[in-house]
Amino acid sequence: MLKVEDLGFCEFSYDGEKEQFKDLIVQSITEGYKRNVGFFGFELKFKVFFYYTREEFSKNWIPPEYALENKWLSAYAIKTLKNQLFFLSPTVLEELSNNKLDRFQKTTGHEISHLFIREIQSNDLPFVFKEGLPYAINSQTNENWVIELIEKQGALLFGADFEFTSDFDSHVTLFYQQSGSMIKWLLEKKGKKKLIEFIKGNDSSITAAFERIFSLSKEEFFESWLKDFKEKSF
Ligand SMILES: [Zn+2]
Repeated sequence: MLKVEDLGFCEFSYDGEKEQFKDLIVQSITEGYKRNVGFFGFELKFKVFFYYTREEFSKNWIPPEYALENKWLSAYAIKTLKNQLFFLSPTVLEELSNNKLDRFQKTTGHEISHLFIREIQSNDLPFVFKEGLPYAINSQTNENWVIELIEKQGALLFGADFEFTSDFDSHVTLFYQQSGSMIKWLLEKKGKKKLIEFIKGNDSSITAAFERIFSLSKEEFFESWLKDFKEKSF
């Protein structure tokens, strides 16, 4: 039976009979929300929907077949459905995806970060910012994993306007992990205020906006991050 719980800032719906982790859901949404309010400095209201089959979960993704087939995907926010999040329930997470239950809390905070970013952004952001910032806010980067992946696959390089040049589907984990590490670096070296200014910006050239705000070129960003990352100096 479908149940809806109201946390004040968030309404979430779940199956009252099937759900085994309601307390974990409440705790994850509450902590993830607080972490994002703390980072961004404002509040918002949103809805979360929990699903128990991959078919139901995939129905809003474009195209639905992609979410149906790609087992790494267990939660998402889409631009056209404002302030709504779609999750595989923690009850079926390990059965229906490659994700582990112990990462559910961070994933919840990550998806909530997407809603806060959308609230302030003017333009679409390249992957490194769009996914790297939720990773950095919610401490999702695993440095050992990044080292291992870079040794195997090589660090992902930027093409025009900061999009990585490698193929996404064969580098999914590195796309996310490297982005998280790079934005963590940017936050530590340049500060939150500049990053938020950059996200809010509506310059027609994202590269020019980046250079103006951070006093750093795209190439310098990549090289400085990689050097510091290898020396473990941030
Ligand atoms: Zn994401």
